Amino acid sequence: MISFLDLKKINALMREELIESCTRVIDSGWFIGGNELSRFEAQFAAYTHSQHCIGVANGLDALNLTLRAWKEMGKLKEGDEVIVPANTYIASILAITENRLVPVLVEPDAATYNLDPKLVEAAITPKTRVIMAVHLYGQLCDMTALMTLAQRNNLLVLEDSAQAHGARQNGRCAGNWGHASGFSFYPGKNLGALGDAGAITTDDDELAETLKALRNYGSHEKYKNLYQGVNSRLDEIQAAMLSVKLKYLDEQTQRRRDVAQHYMEGIRNPGITLPLAMGTSVQALESHVWHVFVIRCERRDELQDYLLAQGIQTIIHYPLPAHQQQAYKNWDSRSYPLTEAIHKQVLSLPISPVMTPSEVECVIAAVNNFASEV
Ligand SMILES: *Cc1c(COP(=O)(O)O)cnc(C)c1O
Repeated sequence: MISFLDLKKINALMREELIESCTRVIDSGWFIGGNELSRFEAQFAAYTHSQHCIGVANGLDALNLTLRAWKEMGKLKEGDEVIVPANTYIASILAITENRLVPVLVEPDAATYNLDPKLVEAAITPKTRVIMAVHLYGQLCDMTALMTLAQRNNLLVLEDSAQAHGARQNGRCAGNWGHASGFSFYPGKNLGALGDAGAITTDDDELAETLKALRNYGSHEKYKNLYQGVNSRLDEIQAAMLSVKLKYLDEQTQRRRDVAQHYMEGIRNPGITLPLAMGTSVQALESHVWHVFVIRCERRDELQDYLLAQGIQTIIHYPLPAHQQQAYKNWDSRSYPLTEAIHKQVLSLPISPVMTPSEVECVIAAVNNFASEV
């Protein structure tokens, strides 16, 4: 079986270091808000070239608390509109509705699955305050265009970088473009902890201070509460695991790019649409970190069954868009045809830093053998 993502094999590459770091934390007797967290926050701020990194419990909280902080800072109020791609993972949208802000869903660009600056511009109203730029599947949005648009319309930009650790454009990486950026370190993400974890990066001092209080019951100082905060902390053991794994991130991203390149060159099936061609410029190569390798096929479900029968595990990112979920049942009369088509057609092939060349070849052969004629 070729597994979609073999986390055992990925973590085995650095097993000794992970165990040493874990032991160090156990022996320290200090498990929340200590040196491991400060070290990882400094390392990840440096990695993203941001002034601040604030560790939180998960990626959803990173987005949620950033919007909440902007409300506490007087930059947002209930009912303000947040533009977000209709095809994103549910967490991006949950963070908006949790804050009683209004998600304005827009169709993505059909080739990149990311926000289309023209459609974003058309969706701006006098109530728009934020653009949530989701770097879906590991590819940066057109941040130059989105930042220009935001500046012209006095909007905040929150990047959802949960899938895009290390993706770059013009030398600037995910987490360094918007006014703030939320990251997830869920185990299956490109930089994954051994449990839940997340972080926000930003250059804004006031936002960083507000977030540090919000994640800790709304308190900067023990027993003094400025806000009705929450408990959302990145614990010492996970911070220590992430410090180990961050060292290998760029190397692992390169391995993902190698797999992606083989898929792009090897998959030749008229019934299958590949991701937008990478191009050969450094620019094009750097802008994608291949969190997932997403193809489209009209007979997606059959293709998935066929591949499984060949021993190849695939995943659908995602089977049902937010506006068709029970959780948002009052949106079910809305129609986003492109988003709906994407959800019916996408399939993610196995990709990881530990796939062997023969596994890659096996996936290519199977995809090419799938008969595309109806
Ligand atoms: C994973 C993910 C999140 C949420 O992260 P968690 O750590 O699972 O809470 C948010 N947005 C996107 C695009 C994601 O892929």
